Amino acid sequence: MPEDILTKVRVRFAPSPTGYPHLGNIRTALFNWLFARHYGGSFILRIEDTDVARRVEGAVETILESLRWLRLDWDEGPYFQSQRLEIYREIADQLLKQEYAYLCYCSPQRLESMRREQMKQKQPPKYDRYCRELTQKQKIELEATGIIPVVRFKTPLEGQTTFYDLIRGEVTFDNSVLDDFVLLKSDGYPTYHLANITDDHLMAISHILRADEWLSSTPRHVLLYQALGWNPPQFAHLPMILGPDRAKLSKRHGATALLDYRERGYLPEAMINFLSLLGWSLDDRTELLSREEIIKHFSLERISKTAAIFNKEKLDWMSGVYLRRLATEEFTKQALPFLDRDLPASVKRPLDLDYVGQIMPLIQERARTFADVSELNQFFFIDELEYNANLLLNAGLGAEVAIKALQTVLPRLALIKTWGAMVLETLVRPMAEELGLETGKFFGLLRVAITGRTAAPPLFQTMAVLGKRRCSRRLRAALDKLFSIVGQ
Ligand code: GLU
Repeated sequence: MPEDILTKVRVRFAPSPTGYPHLGNIRTALFNWLFARHYGGSFILRIEDTDVARRVEGAVETILESLRWLRLDWDEGPYFQSQRLEIYREIADQLLKQEYAYLCYCSPQRLESMRREQMKQKQPPKYDRYCRELTQKQKIELEATGIIPVVRFKTPLEGQTTFYDLIRGEVTFDNSVLDDFVLLKSDGYPTYHLANITDDHLMAISHILRADEWLSSTPRHVLLYQALGWNPPQFAHLPMILGPDRAKLSKRHGATALLDYRERGYLPEAMINFLSLLGWSLDDRTELLSREEIIKHFSLERISKTAAIFNKEKLDWMSGVYLRRLATEEFTKQALPFLDRDLPASVKRPLDLDYVGQIMPLIQERARTFADVSELNQFFFIDELEYNANLLLNAGLGAEVAIKALQTVLPRLALIKTWGAMVLETLVRPMAEELGLETGKFFGLLRVAITGRTAAPPLFQTMAVLGKRRCSRRLRAALDKLFSIVGQ
């Protein structure tokens, strides 16, 4: 099968610009791209924009931008189907001439009432083929009404349509479940079926890798290929992507438009790695794979038949791994625009690069995305911390004890001449014992006082970067908060 591919591999990503591409769409693009790159073939980009009513402003740009962000470069295109209307009309004419298709004059009202009737009878909605066998006289009369007909395919009434799917094996549909679907609409635009098969043929597409949801369209396509005397490409329907609750992947699972992930500061390489494992795997273990490794090993054989599960925690973990792999200078460089965008307006711009440079090594170990960098670390930049006084008791010390602890720490810090992490640690660590406190609780109190958070980078390094004045001020502010608790 694909391993001994004889023809040149030509695959396409054929999105409809009816919305912004989400993870599922881009997984399809990625698998096509990987397949092309693995076999040294071509990856073609085709915009299927024939559904005028559902076109979404800006969708095409977002599609291109999403591919560019992930560096899924295309070898041809983008082709736009809306610029190829003449071609589809010719094919529709050919099918009409050969009587594989017919003109249908049914009004939207008639179709609608037919559909309602079918629903009432609990039958699947299906065109009743009213215009399939019109007499010449009827045709002339209908023509005279001025109604612009659509072109419908004359689906065989009996028999079966079978095709081979490279992932699922043989798939068979009864022709009786298919209806006489529309090929050309009255506005002159082709339907998805007509435009899709015409272009796949004319663009010499060798393999169609597309989402599972298109499987039910495939028998229609196969019938069209047969009618036109064309050889169909090979089909491979990719497994669905489900949320952890096994429901179809949606926003609820944190799966939104691909570019939202860029906005939140995920690295493209992490996205590629993560998306590649949604339905494909190298083996049963390997999770971290570079783009080159994925290209090298990608094959349809290792695409699973069963649905893939989208796991946001795994994505975040993977994203963190890729962030840690960056050289710190690179991490800092890439984090800067996010800091600039996300830090409160009260933080002076341009940001102090020297200061940012000191903070980033502390953060890089912990961040999962660049958005985390500013979200979790604002305390480095803002003057006044805002947090609930009770957070100071979070580590488990009572207010009175906490007050005593901070009152002991403050004057000692004032004595430090060369402020630094080592000095701080040497001075502060033994104080836990002196105060008769568990180190964890004592440090927990200090961490909240210094950062306003219960989780932060290592305490003494953080204090070292923040500086003596800021730390002392924060400890005093924490004391005030504790007094307010006690005074209540
Ligand atoms: N235009 C279809 C889509 O939006 C293409 C499906 C196919 O690949 O055939 O997904």
